[in-house]
Amino acid sequence: MIARSGRARRWYRVGIVVQKFGGTSVASVEKMRRCAQHVLRERASGHDVIVTVSAMGKTTDQFVALAAEASDNPSRREMDMLLSSGERISIALMAMVLESMGQPAISFTARQIGMTTDSSFTRARIESIDADVLKNELARGKVAIVAGFQGVTKEGDVTTLGRGGSDTTAVAVAAAVGADVCEIYTDVDGVYTTDPRKVPSARRLERVGTEEMLELASMGAGVLHPRAVLFAAKFGVPIHVRHSQRDDAGTIIAPGDQNKQGGQMERIEVTGIALKDGLGRVTLEGIPDTPGVAARVFASLAERTIVVDDIIQTVTVEDGKKKATVSFTVDHGELSDMRPVLDALLQDIGGGTSTIDVGFSKVSVVGAGIGSHAEVASTMFRALADAGINIANISTSEIKVGVLIDKTDGERALSLLHEAFGLGASPT
Ligand code: ASP
Ligand code: MG
Repeated sequence: MIARSGRARRWYRVGIVVQKFGGTSVASVEKMRRCAQHVLRERASGHDVIVTVSAMGKTTDQFVALAAEASDNPSRREMDMLLSSGERISIALMAMVLESMGQPAISFTARQIGMTTDSSFTRARIESIDADVLKNELARGKVAIVAGFQGVTKEGDVTTLGRGGSDTTAVAVAAAVGADVCEIYTDVDGVYTTDPRKVPSARRLERVGTEEMLELASMGAGVLHPRAVLFAAKFGVPIHVRHSQRDDAGTIIAPGDQNKQGGQMERIEVTGIALKDGLGRVTLEGIPDTPGVAARVFASLAERTIVVDDIIQTVTVEDGKKKATVSFTVDHGELSDMRPVLDALLQDIGGGTSTIDVGFSKVSVVGAGIGSHAEVASTMFRALADAGINIANISTSEIKVGVLIDKTDGERALSLLHEAFGLGASPT
C-alpha cells in the first residue's frame, strides 16, 4: 500500500511488521534494549511496528511453581489470572525502553485490544481482535506493544492461550491488522531439519512451507507454537523466524513455499524429522460398531477441548457381533481429566472398555508430497526395524509419515532417521 505520511510529508511504503520477542530475548531490560534495535530498524525503513512480548525469562515457570505451592489442584481460572501477569510486566518495560530511546510506544493488555477468547482457561482459543485500537496508535506514529499469551472472555475473565502461546498472539495480531510479515525473534537462528540439541548435524532451513511447518511444529519441533502456525496457514501470514541477538537470515515460513533446497521440483524430498515426547494412548475396545459412535466419542472430547492426535479404528467380530476398537493419542497433560470422561462416554454409547497407556513418543518424517510415496515409508520402517525399534502405530498424511514408539527409543530414532534421509549438513 502506498500512503502519504502527513507529518513527514513524503511518500513511502507503509506496511505493518509484527515482531515477537520470546522470554529469553526479554529476560532483562538490557536484552530488551537489544530487541528494541530491531524495532527501530523497521521504523527507520518506514514500517509501522507492533511488538508482542512473552514474560521475562523463566517468569511463567516460577508462577507455575508458586501455584503448585499454593494448591495441589489450583483452579484453571486462577492459574490464568496468575500466569498472565508476567506479560504485563514485560509490555510496560518494553514500552519504557522504546520511549527512552526516543520511539513513542504504548502497551496493551488483551482486554484493551479486545483480544477475546473462549473460556477454556489455560488453553483458550482466540475469537476476535479489535484491530482499530492498534491501527489508531500506529497512525499516531507509535509502536504498539501487545501482551502475548493472554486473552479475555466475553465475561471479562483473563485467559491464557497455553504455554508458549505468545507466538499465537503475534500471528493472530498480524492476521488482524493485515501485516506484511510476522517476525518471531527467538534464541535459535531458525527452523532446523530436526532439533539441533538432539542431533548435532541438523541443518537450518532457508524456507519451509506453512503446511510442512504445521506438521513439524505440532510434532514438537519446538521453535514455534503449533497454533501460531495454524493461524499463519489459515490467514496466509508469512512468518520469519530470526535470532534476537544476531543478524542471521533465519527461516521464512510461507504458504506453498516448501523446502526445495538443492532439489529438482519433482523430486520428493524430506524436509525434516520431528520428535514429540510425552504421549499417551487411549484405547476404547469392544464398542458398538454402529453409525454415530465415533461422532459421539469425539464430540465428547471436543466439548472438553481435549486435543487428540492420530485416530485409528479397527473392527472385529465377537460372538457374531461386530465391535469396534478406537484408539487415539493425546498429550500426557490431557490424561488427568480423561478417566471420568471415558467412563461417562462408554456408558453413553452402551458398552466397551477403556485403557490408557503412557510412555510413548512420536517420530515423524515431514516433507511436501511424501505421504503418497511408498519409498519414504519403506525407508523409514526399514531403518527403524534395523535398529530394533518397535512401531506401535503408524499414521500418514500428504506431508508426513509418523510412528508411535516407546519413549526410550525416541532420540535414537530421531538421529537414525535424520541420517537415513541424508538430512545432515555435509561435512566440510
Ligand atoms: N510466557 C508464556 C510461557 O512461558 C507464553 C510464552 O512464552 O509464549 O509459556
Ligand atoms: Mg516462553
